[in-house]
Amino acid sequence: MTFQRPTKQSATVIGKNYLDPNNKYLYISFLVENKHLMEPLPGQFVSLQVAQNTYRSYSICASNIKNGVFSIVAAVAHDGIGSTYLKSLECGHTIDFIGPAGRFILSPLSMNTNIVFVSTGTGIAPFMTMLDTLLQSDYKHKVTFIHGARYEHELLFLEEIETYSKSIDNFESILCVSSSDKRVTSVLPISSNVHYYLCGNPNMVEDAKSLLAQNNIGADCIFTEKFTHAKQIKS
Ligand SMILES: Cc1cc2nc3c(=O)[nH]c(=O)nc-3n(C[C@H](O)[C@H](O)[C@H](O)COP(=O)(O)OP(=O)(O)OC[C@H]3O[C@@H](n4cnc5c(N)ncnc54)[C@H](O)[C@@H]3O)c2cc1C
Repeated sequence: MTFQRPTKQSATVIGKNYLDPNNKYLYISFLVENKHLMEPLPGQFVSLQVAQNTYRSYSICASNIKNGVFSIVAAVAHDGIGSTYLKSLECGHTIDFIGPAGRFILSPLSMNTNIVFVSTGTGIAPFMTMLDTLLQSDYKHKVTFIHGARYEHELLFLEEIETYSKSIDNFESILCVSSSDKRVTSVLPISSNVHYYLCGNPNMVEDAKSLLAQNNIGADCIFTEKFTHAKQIKS
C-alpha cells in the first residue's frame, strides 16, 4: 500500500447539498485539477484552505480516482471559520487544499478479520470509502457498522448503509440515537479476531478505546481518528 505525498493543489466545486432537514451536514463534491496528484486511500482526508494560512481537515467520504472527483461531509451548524467558508462555496468556485493525507486507512490485515466500524456524526465519512473498498474486494468476514447521532434525523448516509447491508455478506448495522439514550459505546461488541475502527468525536473515540482496552483488546486491533477542532497549518 503506497501513501501518496500530500500535495498543495486546487479543485472546483461541482456539487453541494445538505443531508439533513436542519442544514447541519453539508455534502460537497470537488473535481481536482490534476487527478494524478489525488489518489486517496480509503479513510484519508484533505486539508482545505479556509482562510489565509488557515486549514481545516475533512475526511473523504466518496472518491472516484479515475474521474478526479472526491466528496466530503462537514458539520456546519456552528459559526466556525471552516464551516462558514464551506457554506459560502458555490458550484464553479475553486478551492486550494493539501492532500491526500492521513494514516487512518483500511489496513490490508483487516481483510482477514471481522471488522467493527464505530462512528458518531461526520465520523462516518472515512468508513464510506472503506466500505466501498470492501464491497469491491472478496472480503468474506463479518462487518458490524455502528453509527450514532444525537437525533434520528441526524443519522447520516442511511440509504448507503442500506445498500451496503444488501451488497456485503454478513453486514450488520446498529444505529444509535443518544437523545434516546442509545450510545455507540453501549452496543459495542467485544470479541477477539476483530479489527475496531473508531472515528468522530474525540470523547467517543477515547471512551470506546478505553472500553476495548479494559476488555483486553490489543492496541494493534484498534484504529482511531479523532475529529479534533481547529487545525492550523502555516503555508
Ligand atoms: C483528521 C481530521 C478529519 C476531520 N474530518 C472531518 C469531517 O469529515 N467532517 C467534519 O465536519 N469535520 C471534520 N474534522 C473537524 C474539522 O477539521 C474542523 O475542525 C471542524 O469542522 C471545525 O472547524 P471550523 O473552522 O468550522 O470551526 P472552528 O473555527 O475551528 O471552531 C469555532 C467554534 O466552533 C466549535 N466547533 C467546531 N466544530 C464543531 C462541531 N462540529 N460542532 C459544534 N461545534 C463545533 C469549536 O469548539 C469552536 O468553539 C476533522 C478533523 C480532523 C483532525
